[in-house]
Amino acid sequence: MPAHLLQEEMASSYASSSSTTTTTITEPPARVLQNGESNPEKNLLHPEEDIRPEMKDDIFDPSYKDKEGPRPKLEYVWRNIILMSLLHLGALYGIILIPTCKVYTWLWGFAYYIISALGITAGAHRLWSHRSYKARLPLRIFLIIANTMAFQNDAYEWARDHRVHHKFSETDADPHNARRGFFFSHVGWLLVRKHPAVKEKGGLLDLSDLKAEKLLMFQRR
Ligand SMILES: [Zn+2]
Ligand SMILES: [Zn+2]
Repeated sequence: MPAHLLQEEMASSYASSSSTTTTTITEPPARVLQNGESNPEKNLLHPEEDIRPEMKDDIFDPSYKDKEGPRPKLEYVWRNIILMSLLHLGALYGIILIPTCKVYTWLWGFAYYIISALGITAGAHRLWSHRSYKARLPLRIFLIIANTMAFQNDAYEWARDHRVHHKFSETDADPHNARRGFFFSHVGWLLVRKHPAVKEKGGLLDLSDLKAEKLLMFQRR
């Protein structure tokens, strides 16, 4: 039986016994009150505690409102449009090859998928954008390699775009503003120049923690 269920059961039997006898009130069951380490509810005692006090620039800022007036004209980035097209054509061609490829090719493709996904979700997203955990150098080296394999810009740029996305979600200052449609918020935003509001607000973010991380600056070169 999971420890917390056991504790709940003990706590409730304690409550029922205390209604019949008065001596047990001064003598609570040891497991419930003394063994705090194994109590999963211990973490909830301070729900307001911020584990990343230095990070504030990825928190939604409701005070920001889009400026009135016409949208600036879209400026296409042809280099990105061509690269993105080739990437997807290559992927289509790859699908045709799957039935005839060697099993090691298949395994490598699968491993590559898992590793590069970690480079984005565990690296660029959770570690570098949100600082939701701390990582020592060996893990950070693994993550920066995995992140480079994912081919989604460098992690500094990813984190900068993602912090401004969280802070100004679904406004012009959000690099992939979902109000500009499904295509724009998934692919299109990578194919045009950034909205002036993204540059303006993105430029004001505190990215000093990213700039101070030598590994990120090395990847960026
Ligand atoms: Zn996020
Ligand atoms: Zn989002």
